[in-house]
Amino acid sequence: MDRMTELVEKLNDYAYRYYTLDEPIVSDKEYDALYDELVELESQTGTRLANSPTHRVGGELLKQFESHTHKQRLYSLAKSQSFGDLESWWTRCAYSLNEDKFLCSVEYKYDGLTVNLTYNNGELVRATTRGNGVKGEIVTNGAKTIRTIPLTIDFKGEIEVQGECIMRLSELEKYNNTHDIPLKNARNAAAGALRNLDSKVTAERHLDFMAYSVGYSDIAFNSQKEMVDFLVKNKFRIGDYVKYADNLNDIQTLINEIESKRNTLDYLIDGAVIKINEQSFRNELGFTEKSPRWAMAYKYEAEEVTTILKDVIWQVSRTGKLNPLAVLEPVELCGATISRATLNNLDDISKKGVKIGSRVFIRRSNDVIPEILGVAEDNNGSVILPPDKCPSCGGDVKVDGAFVYCENKENCGAVHISRLDHFASREAMNIEGLSEKTILQLYNLGFLRDIDDIYDLTAEQLIQAEGFKDKKVSNILNAIKNSKNAALDNFIYSLGIANIGKKSAKQLADKFKSLENLQSATIEDILSLDDFGEIMATSVYNFFNNDANKKLIDSLLSKGIQLEFKEVKQGVLTGITICLTGSISVPRSKAKQMIIDNGGSVADSVSKNVNVVVYGEEAGSKLEKAKKLGLELWTEKEFYEKINFED
Ligand code: NAD
Repeated sequence: MDRMTELVEKLNDYAYRYYTLDEPIVSDKEYDALYDELVELESQTGTRLANSPTHRVGGELLKQFESHTHKQRLYSLAKSQSFGDLESWWTRCAYSLNEDKFLCSVEYKYDGLTVNLTYNNGELVRATTRGNGVKGEIVTNGAKTIRTIPLTIDFKGEIEVQGECIMRLSELEKYNNTHDIPLKNARNAAAGALRNLDSKVTAERHLDFMAYSVGYSDIAFNSQKEMVDFLVKNKFRIGDYVKYADNLNDIQTLINEIESKRNTLDYLIDGAVIKINEQSFRNELGFTEKSPRWAMAYKYEAEEVTTILKDVIWQVSRTGKLNPLAVLEPVELCGATISRATLNNLDDISKKGVKIGSRVFIRRSNDVIPEILGVAEDNNGSVILPPDKCPSCGGDVKVDGAFVYCENKENCGAVHISRLDHFASREAMNIEGLSEKTILQLYNLGFLRDIDDIYDLTAEQLIQAEGFKDKKVSNILNAIKNSKNAALDNFIYSLGIANIGKKSAKQLADKFKSLENLQSATIEDILSLDDFGEIMATSVYNFFNNDANKKLIDSLLSKGIQLEFKEVKQGVLTGITICLTGSISVPRSKAKQMIIDNGGSVADSVSKNVNVVVYGEEAGSKLEKAKKLGLELWTEKEFYEKINFED
């Protein structure tokens, strides 16, 4: 079979599974790469097979549904994957229209399912899927369960309203927490729900509808703006982002702005859609076989790919719990090579049905380690079982519900090392230089076992660690000494209490204000904190009432740890998270303290959680990333002005 036929057959099979069955077996990124290869091949050879997907929109219709011919055809969108592609489109339009500037709307590109709603006499008479663009499947009953689809509108003529049906990520999470078989992704979940003959199933998934266009209509619109106003007046939800710009630079700024918001949204978007505003310009440009020439989708980097799950390793945590971690065949995702993914526990493994050898969907998540969504292809893989013995100490393991524990945690090296590492980590006692690698060496040399041993380390012991010179030894000893003055919340967090993360440690510190108060708190006292349920409260209570832990805390205090509790400061930076980059004229630690003293929070790296980046001379990649994310940027001088500091 030649490559073109092979690509066409493969793509048609993938499209059938995606559009018709709502059960894709490859990610959009993989589909798009093959599609682009086909387009390239077709343009090189000047031939197109009759069944090439480049001729058509969407996929086959499901036989179970009655079909309906749309009054006005529905199209796909041409795609740009770079500003270069977008510029070529802009230049083509500018040339055809003989205009330098023309107003465009820039909107979210929702990643859901196209729905076409027909209203007549003010009533919803039909809802259809896009189908193959000419004919769609009738899904009126399901659509009627969607609260954001009005059943009646003020306009009394005949009209087709087009929009995207989506499932919110919070709804997907709720659904997956309460059902045995989880839904893999919000797009397929929305499509599967609407294309279900049982409208109860649709209703249960709480879908939403974002209206973005009008197809056939008894009234004419002169522009996108007029159309949007009409939709708003008729009580449609028009999507959460519709802005306008009349030149390429401003459009690019809006595209960057949308990208920076992407990870904060409660639904999936896979790009931005740019549409020329004026209807007269649209008429001049017209359509290709597949898409309007007056619109363009700007696609962001894919956040989902598939790869093979090669193995599962069980990582021993500080509490003795063994956490499963998937070992993947390395794959590119969002500019990084991914070879590990989270599998939360045994329940998660069995619910998702993943096996060793399965091809799995993985998605970038806000955490460093991506998450496995589900199986793309089973491949007759082998079932993932909990280990018989602790992989670190060889001790017995206990399976308790969905979790696996090392029964020998008091003597398990991995548990000790994990506890020591957690205690010394930046967000806990912040002992710089005491890395996991160093801890491991000192543990193997017999100088460390429990966390209080850190305060007995001597220069003679440290110098025995590989690669240690006097300077490194004195740096670590200094860091250990400095850690003795600790904030109460950091100390609570550093103890590694099960189920207590950074945020809950802070809540405990804010409420009890001293270690003594916390040690004498009852379960009821702890339960009175927001978001603290039985499990967390009992875990805290048991920890502080356990004899070994009491001894450990006494020992830490006797070695000179002093705890301080500071009330949260309010100031001009309250609620603002700031990242510093480049060289600035005051020491970094002083600048950080200034942020905290003015009520702000400090972030060490640039992410969507950062509000402002303060940059000094020679700022590098962090500043670049901040610009890309559209974050607010302050020079050092602007920062001082905000906080009223005179250099
Ligand atoms: P598309 O999804 O790239 O773009 C067109 C669609 O965008 C429209 O139909 C519309 O529903 C939607 N849209 C969202 N927001 C919009 C807005 N504000 N204004 C206008 N339209 C908006 O194109 P397509 O033809 O629907 O699908 C092609 C894509 O589907 C491929 O690029 C691929 O990523 C994916 N696909 C994946 C597989 C797979 O197996 N994974 C198979 C087939 C297709």
